Amino acid sequence: MRKEAWDKIHIKNLEVFGKHGVLPEENRLGQKFQINAALYLHTREAGLRDDLRKTIHYGEVSRFMTSFMMEHTFQLIETAAEQMARAVLLQFPSMEKIRLEVLKPWAPIGLPLESVSVEIERGWHQVFVAIGSNLGEREDYIAMGLEGLGQCEDCKVEQVSEIITTKPYGVTEQPEFLNGMIKLKTLLSPQELLQELHRIEQEAGRERLVHWGPRTLDLDIIFYDDWVIDTEELQVPHPDMQNRAFVLQPLAELAPFLRHPLFNKTVTQMLKEL
Ligand code: ATP
Ligand code: CA
Ligand code: CA
Repeated sequence: MRKEAWDKIHIKNLEVFGKHGVLPEENRLGQKFQINAALYLHTREAGLRDDLRKTIHYGEVSRFMTSFMMEHTFQLIETAAEQMARAVLLQFPSMEKIRLEVLKPWAPIGLPLESVSVEIERGWHQVFVAIGSNLGEREDYIAMGLEGLGQCEDCKVEQVSEIITTKPYGVTEQPEFLNGMIKLKTLLSPQELLQELHRIEQEAGRERLVHWGPRTLDLDIIFYDDWVIDTEELQVPHPDMQNRAFVLQPLAELAPFLRHPLFNKTVTQMLKEL
């Protein structure tokens, strides 16, 4: 399976005066910084039509980054890069990813170095989150889950499946479930997203009593791009998804041909084999 290649716009050696640094003099007097950026996007339509509205205006991005560097004061260029990458991605929605380098050519360490810099790459990740509830006002809890994700600044909910009623799984002596699937983009890492989901669950009154027991709201990460994560606190793709119709069915509605990175099977195939 070949991955889609992104086009890039490069901004090279943008000079900005800023007051970032650990030393008080740096915060008071300021110094020169340089920025290199690669903006990842699709330029084909703009290129074919010669249409500025179909691309990202590098002048606007440069102005935005200049203001950002001047309006904030950070100790670390790590922070300047991190915060600026996020701000740029939120400001220019058609940008999928940014590679950003912040250089400090006059780093005051009393040694003859040419420059010091931090380079990071940040972007949107495609995620599928399963949502479920089987306790109390189930529709309200599903709505609270969707609203919670809608309020997450670093997430963009793109699509929500039909919410279906299903028989309980595992512990079967409990009320029926409402289940659905959410397709979203996020700037959060998988661990950060998991924390955010836990926060939303807690706000919906979720108490962790019995594993697989009744719950007001359950939010599970099913896919995070095509990443495979196997740590104690987080497994992605969700390790039991292939055995659950209440996961595969709503997922098939949103992404029937999405492929499981380990089984190399599409969602439709997995649903059929269930
Ligand atoms: P299941 O994961 O089998 O559906 P559950 O949803 O009932 O079970 P919870 O009690 O909600 O399980 O979660 C237990 C722990 O599972 C969470 O605290 C979390 O750390 C961990 N976990 C591991 N992988 C994931 C994932 N992909 N999505 C959400 N939580 C996960
Ligand atoms: Ca679950
Ligand atoms: Ca869960």
